[in-house]
Amino acid sequence: MHTCHVENGSILNMTITLDFLTGKTTDQLVPFMEHFLVHRDMQADMTKMFEAARAEGIVLALTSSFRSFELQQKIWNEKVMGQRPVLDSDSNPIDIKTVTPEELLFLIMRWSAIPGGSRHHWGTDFDIYDLAAKPADYKVQLIPAEYEQGGYFHNAALWLEERMEDFGFFRPYAVDRGGIAPEPWHISYKPLSEKFLQSFTKEAFFDHLAQSSFLLIDEARANQDELYHRFICIE
Ligand SMILES: [Zn+2]
Repeated sequence: MHTCHVENGSILNMTITLDFLTGKTTDQLVPFMEHFLVHRDMQADMTKMFEAARAEGIVLALTSSFRSFELQQKIWNEKVMGQRPVLDSDSNPIDIKTVTPEELLFLIMRWSAIPGGSRHHWGTDFDIYDLAAKPADYKVQLIPAEYEQGGYFHNAALWLEERMEDFGFFRPYAVDRGGIAPEPWHISYKPLSEKFLQSFTKEAFFDHLAQSSFLLIDEARANQDELYHRFICIE
């Protein structure tokens, strides 16, 4: 099913504003498990799913849910400046001095969304692990190996695969389509996120880039059509 080719590019209604889609407002969010913010219309189903998992010994926990534009911009700029590692498809660090700015843009986007272009801005998407399966001294890395056979969170990944749909959740990055790497830890609430993705038209994304000033913005604008189709409107 095509989820994001909306013909009329200017449909941004009262609640789904460009500010909302790009993580610049927390108006629709509520607290979840102390440290996190999630969309108010997702909270009930999310709680149900966490309770169902818990009944089977899986203690779902988050590493992140809502992320603001400001935070995404900080992470992004730190990667561009070499203050945070940029990883290749196999999760190995890349020497960013050996690549062009345009190459760097696409390398960073393999694992990090462009500021304003993250599904985490909507409060409908979160990164998940199993607290019950995590050794006390282990730091969650969010790498595929943790969720594959033999990984600490493999059991939770299998449970989610089987049950999450019952609660409205799915994995938007389940398959590698040449844009964002498959992220088995990234879960999304379909009833809402599908709607938000439909509202995030190409025109809205271009407007957003036109207003932005984070690092590599010139390279982003020069590639905006490709960025939209590979990283925002993923089918
Ligand atoms: Zn994520």
